[in-house]
Amino acid sequence: MKIVVIGGGAGGMMSAIYAARAGAEVILLEKNEKLGKKIYITGKGRCNVTNDCDVEDFLSNVVHGAKFLRSALYTYTPAHTMEMLENAGLPLVTERGNRVFPLSQKSNDVIKTLANEMQKAGVDVRLKTEIKEIRVDGNSFRVYTPWENIACDKVIVATGGVSYPSTGSTGDGYKFAKDLGHKVVGPVPALAPLQTVEDVKCLEGLSLKNVRLTAYNGNGKEIADDFGEMLFTGRGLSGPIALTVSSFINRAEKVRFELDLKPALDENKLEARILRDFEERKNLDVKNATRALMPERLNAYVLKVAGIPENKKVNSVTKEERGRLLKALKNLPFTLKRLAPFEEAIVTAGGVDTKDVTPHMESKHHKGLYFVGEVLDVDALTGGFNLQIAFATGYMAAKHATKELGEDND
Ligand SMILES: Cc1cc2nc3c(=O)[nH]c(=O)nc-3n(C[C@H](O)[C@H](O)[C@H](O)COP(=O)(O)OP(=O)(O)OC[C@H]3O[C@@H](n4cnc5c(N)ncnc54)[C@H](O)[C@@H]3O)c2cc1C
Repeated sequence: MKIVVIGGGAGGMMSAIYAARAGAEVILLEKNEKLGKKIYITGKGRCNVTNDCDVEDFLSNVVHGAKFLRSALYTYTPAHTMEMLENAGLPLVTERGNRVFPLSQKSNDVIKTLANEMQKAGVDVRLKTEIKEIRVDGNSFRVYTPWENIACDKVIVATGGVSYPSTGSTGDGYKFAKDLGHKVVGPVPALAPLQTVEDVKCLEGLSLKNVRLTAYNGNGKEIADDFGEMLFTGRGLSGPIALTVSSFINRAEKVRFELDLKPALDENKLEARILRDFEERKNLDVKNATRALMPERLNAYVLKVAGIPENKKVNSVTKEERGRLLKALKNLPFTLKRLAPFEEAIVTAGGVDTKDVTPHMESKHHKGLYFVGEVLDVDALTGGFNLQIAFATGYMAAKHATKELGEDND
């Protein structure tokens, strides 16, 4: 049995390893000059390979496609990924939030390990080979490179999404899928910084801890919120909680946000705190009374939003102004201009419609054709979940594609 895997990223390499271990003749075609360009930049170069949590916990971190992925994630769990990588000679370490990294803290070691396993299993890896088209040929397929066409029994498409296109994922798999009659859900950026209408250039580089960001749609309905760390960029909001929120709002319209700078204090407690601070500093400028509540640059921004001149004396601040300050601290408003483009989005939401694909990742239109990893309409939050999805779906396709060989390929 001859299987062609298109794409040498996480999903493609995992598929190739398991299909070859099962005894198939596997050719992996990658358009870049090297394997795993995206893996290389994951986890800030450290590669958060998976999340060592149980599957139900895992599924609660999947934003789109949890139901579809259930079977794959129960079949190939984070524990399987860890076992596979450690058996292949890559020691791992689990950090905060169950995030698993190579002990060496080098993403390149993950790529080397997967490449080595492919070599051991006898995968024929062909780099600098860009696939242009897949054609169905009776019960088999033809895969077209610019210089030849390769006949094969099965094809596994692992071409990724469209985020960070410089790594090679430029949405080619969507075209292959569409040409062969599959629906593709329009891709949108996910885990992407939020660009705001408000000019926050003055806050660029400022990071905040223990804040809460809530998003509302045009009807005023709350559609996402998260608590934790955030970062201002020159164009808006980024950092962990902004990225998480982005994945839930990427198809909503007229989105606005409220940033709670003091989530541990309810309005009454915060008001009491402000009154106390004002009482102790009544002859000072207001900016000197509020600076204990927040970092300097944010202090100036918040007072501006509250419409209180920085140099106004505390004892002349009106009750109404105090009310506006309270509101700015609890509900600092931002309006979404747009999500950052795919070039800055960690993952792509949208992709090959999972309704057109079986839980074994096989196309419902063409037997023997599989889609794995980010090319599918699935996405998850940060924490090692997206790579695990690529590994689990990659395994699932390989296992199913080779089932007639009857080998135990674990
Ligand atoms: C900056 C960044 C950091 C991230 N950090 C993490 C993290 O720490 N943990 C985590 O779980 N996830 C992380 N992710 C997400 C994760 O990297 C992806 O979800 C995952 O790599 C998707 O794997 P894939 O195999 O589906 O696609 P990809 O890794 O994108 O691989 C697709 C491959 O297919 C090749 N290809 C495309 N078209 C063709 C064609 N026509 N012919 C031949 N080859 C082709 C591409 O060149 C590419 O090598 C991160 C993403 C980014 C951008």
